Amino acid sequence: MFRLGSQVRSRVQASVRGSARLGPVVRVYSQAPDRDDDPEFFGMVEGFFDRGAAIIEDKLVEELKGRESPEQKKNRVQGILQIIKPCNHVLSLHFPIRRDHGQWEMIEAYRAQHSQHRTPCKGGIRYSTDVCLDEVKALASLMTYKCAVVDVPFGGAKAGVKINPKLYSDGELEKITRRLTIELAKKGFIGPGIDVPAPDMSTGEREMSWIADTFATTMGYNDINANACVTGKPISQGGIHGRISATGRGVFHGIENFINEASYMSKVGMIPGFHEKTFIVQGFGNVGLHTMRYLHRFGAKCVGVGELDGNIWNPNGIDPKELENYKLANGTIVGFPGSPPYEGDILEAECDILIPAAGEKQLTKSNAHRIKAKIIAEGANGPTTPAADRIFLERNIMVFPDLFLNAGGVTVSYFEWLKNLNHVSYGRLTFKYERDSNYHLLMSVQESLESKFGKHGGSIPVVPTSEFQARIAGASEKDIVHSGLAYTMERSARQIMRTANKYNLGLDLRTAAYANAIEKVFKVYNEAGLILT
Ligand code: NAD
Repeated sequence: MFRLGSQVRSRVQASVRGSARLGPVVRVYSQAPDRDDDPEFFGMVEGFFDRGAAIIEDKLVEELKGRESPEQKKNRVQGILQIIKPCNHVLSLHFPIRRDHGQWEMIEAYRAQHSQHRTPCKGGIRYSTDVCLDEVKALASLMTYKCAVVDVPFGGAKAGVKINPKLYSDGELEKITRRLTIELAKKGFIGPGIDVPAPDMSTGEREMSWIADTFATTMGYNDINANACVTGKPISQGGIHGRISATGRGVFHGIENFINEASYMSKVGMIPGFHEKTFIVQGFGNVGLHTMRYLHRFGAKCVGVGELDGNIWNPNGIDPKELENYKLANGTIVGFPGSPPYEGDILEAECDILIPAAGEKQLTKSNAHRIKAKIIAEGANGPTTPAADRIFLERNIMVFPDLFLNAGGVTVSYFEWLKNLNHVSYGRLTFKYERDSNYHLLMSVQESLESKFGKHGGSIPVVPTSEFQARIAGASEKDIVHSGLAYTMERSARQIMRTANKYNLGLDLRTAAYANAIEKVFKVYNEAGLILT
């Protein structure tokens, strides 16, 4: 029989590099493991980082202010780049739960905090048998760059629990989630100002609600902001409208900004706009479903969907709502009426836009040559290996990179966190005032017209257009979230386009996005007066 307390094994590998004195600065850009078909995930992100850093290093040196010599400035830039790249802290956990059948099981879990250049750290929690140290480190570092790309003021983090959630009862999953929360709290890996998890693969509102409740009723009992320790919560627990669909909606906006840009579409031989463009989604989960919904709504046609237990294909188009209902009723997409199984690898099927929205390393040097899509939209994190990325560039295939494209989730999580800290929902204070002001405006226009032209032919009613009528009552929380997300994605898309143009990167939008992210993180370290003496 286990004694619970003594069985908890946890290990903190912490290196607080912000205060570390660095030795002689050497150039640390690693060789991206692009010869390898199955590179280490963290090494992949490091390789992409190196590509981005190499693009902007000279600019960073040139723009450094101060009386330092060119050599000292170069050292300073290289020093800060060295500081940004590694993963700051990793918590590795094993804790027991008692299964429903009465036996005990040790659960393996990790949380990685890549960077504290801004706090709190932010990143999802996934439940998957693929979880390992390398994966959480990679995903945490991606989060740092993702937050920087969309100007969300957080450092990157990620957690993973190495389980197949389908093999556990709801009660067991609740035990695991609550115990994980306690373990994270004990080690300083959760808290509204420290580290704020969110949903990822196989986790959602339910798990976030357990986390918020566990934290608020234990370590956070005296913290008025305790609910801000996690995002992606149900509305009743302090969640925000639009968070569930936010990543998919962000994927849509990300694609929209490029697909409506004639100069980019001409590079891949397509005409601008969504209409009649075909797409395939790999992974019909949170990101896949909501991406499909928005693309479908704006005129694109989903011809194929890939899942773990089978693929479906319909050249006439698959309706997302009907497929969602079918999956809810049957627990699978397989057998969906009118959409027979696709013979072959769905990633390699004919389409305009391929959306990997499942796991990492799906597009490798083994299949990159056979991909027929002209656009790859990375809903998932890390779906493309560096070797595949290079092949896509050679083949003139445009890739919208994960750190930009799926940043809608963390953007709306940021809005949720702000809502929690403000203890008021968006629009609550201004709702009535805005509505009254809009009616006053209409009345004032009407009175001006009547005083100028008289009322002989009757009064001159000023009738709002249907668009204005829809907005007259002021912006709801959902309106604010949607417009804030659209604005964020558009601004980041423009920044990426500017960098790609400036450095002649062509279709290499990933390097442009990394360069933007690195420059922003660099600025924070540099202007914080970082000790590089
Ligand atoms: P999810 O668990 O809701 O859905 C994932 C789906 O993909 C599941 O239905 C699963 O069965 C399927 N799947 C897994 N492996 C597959 C494979 N090899 N082939 C086909 N289907 C497969 O997860 P999610 O939240 O939608 O996350 C998907 C990806 O998007 C992950 O990479 C995640 O890190 C990333 N992401 C998620 C969010 C978010 O807000 N949830 C935000 C940013 C990025």
